[in-house]
Amino acid sequence: LPQVIIIGRPNVGKSTLFNRLVGKKLALVDDQPGVTRDRRFGDADLLGMKFTIVDTAGWEDLDPETLPGRMRQQTEASLIGADVALFVIDARAGVTPLDEEIARYLRSSRVPIVLLANKAEGRAGDPGLYDAFALGFGEPVAFSAEHGQGLADLFEALRPHIEGDGKDDHDDAAPPAEGEEEEEFDPESVLKLAIVGRPNAGKSTLINKLLGENRLLTGPEAGITRDSIAIDWQWFDAARDGYRPVRLIDTAGMRKKAQITEKLEKMAVADARHAIDFAEVVVLLLDATRGLEHQDLKIASMVLEEGRALMIAVNKWDIAEDPSGLFNGIRAALDDGLAQVRGVPLLAVSARTGKGLDQILTAAFDIRAAWSKRVPTSALNRWFDDALSANPPPAPGGKRIKLRYITQARTRPPSFVMFGTRLDQLPESYRRYLINGIRRELGFDAVPIRLTLRSPT
Ligand code: GDP
Repeated sequence: LPQVIIIGRPNVGKSTLFNRLVGKKLALVDDQPGVTRDRRFGDADLLGMKFTIVDTAGWEDLDPETLPGRMRQQTEASLIGADVALFVIDARAGVTPLDEEIARYLRSSRVPIVLLANKAEGRAGDPGLYDAFALGFGEPVAFSAEHGQGLADLFEALRPHIEGDGKDDHDDAAPPAEGEEEEEFDPESVLKLAIVGRPNAGKSTLINKLLGENRLLTGPEAGITRDSIAIDWQWFDAARDGYRPVRLIDTAGMRKKAQITEKLEKMAVADARHAIDFAEVVVLLLDATRGLEHQDLKIASMVLEEGRALMIAVNKWDIAEDPSGLFNGIRAALDDGLAQVRGVPLLAVSARTGKGLDQILTAAFDIRAAWSKRVPTSALNRWFDDALSANPPPAPGGKRIKLRYITQARTRPPSFVMFGTRLDQLPESYRRYLINGIRRELGFDAVPIRLTLRSPT
């Protein structure tokens, strides 16, 4: 289990916090010799998240003269096995000189620190909360161990360091603590969809058709940049017999005014770039009478490099010649030309007749879900262990590259961090083997994914 250690001067409420997290059945394993005599271990359950909590108890009895030195010694010893340290201060007392002293040596430690301002029930701790920012550990979690307040905030603060399911036992691989905190993905939230493509692919026609009868426009059009507008509307999902919210990013309509074709051509890429900034899913619209052209691939690659979910819709299907040959040709060219994904969704549509338009939305909601998916660390590492035994990493110069552990650091796009040693020597082919495995075995086929390698420092 991941280990969380409680650090703080006497009387800030460390024991109350310990008991609050461990609950009634105190699971003490307090029989280690030596310096660990001063520590209490317990099995914590914080809103379902499991970890070992360690209390650096016993300081209350130390001689105040020697307190700082002894605390420092003990803290340093106890930080060694910890995944994250909970630095507790008393929000009502504010930040004391001893707190500052502890903060100084915690700052030099490699263990991530979560600052907890205890005794903050009601608004009693407000002054101390402001002080606490100055300690340099970010926003403090306002907490009341006594009253059990702030549990959800503490959960959110600890979660990135503990990795969700708590089932893995790879405690030597520090989970990544990077990036902003992620909100839980809500599949019914507003789908941010951009439609991009070369001039005359039919973007305006498509948008007008989408917004036509049977669809409910819910907001005024709002300019989001000089070159694009956002249209909020509700798509009627017949399969569910209900409306689903969509924000459509439209660059085409704006461009109509320019009407200088060769300039429009150049601007298609720039427009796509703008739209991508606002979109979760990008639909690249092709023209069936022209097929997949070089610039289309350029736009598609850019969408994937920016980490967005991509779909391709071939428009003007109503006037396509040799539809099945065309479709297969485009499929093959995409598989060839877009190494970043496999099987990007490819749809045949007609903005004029309305054919296939509902499939665009259905597929867009689906691919957004895949793009937002989080694989539990345990399942991820089960796959990882299998992949390594099926095809062990190479041993350049007779020394084997060690791959230990993988974790999904982020979603949207799905981003993975792999830990191990000698990773700088991992051949690109092996890295591709792992990426393909993640795609195929864990359901990320059609969305761009990222894999970062990290050796413990
Ligand atoms: P945009 O530049 O991508 O916005 O393209 P427009 O929406 O202005 O469409 C360019 C031309 O293609 C117009 O003449 C449309 O009538 C035509 N068009 C658009 N969609 C279709 C379609 O599904 N079928 C056919 N046959 N023509 C279409």
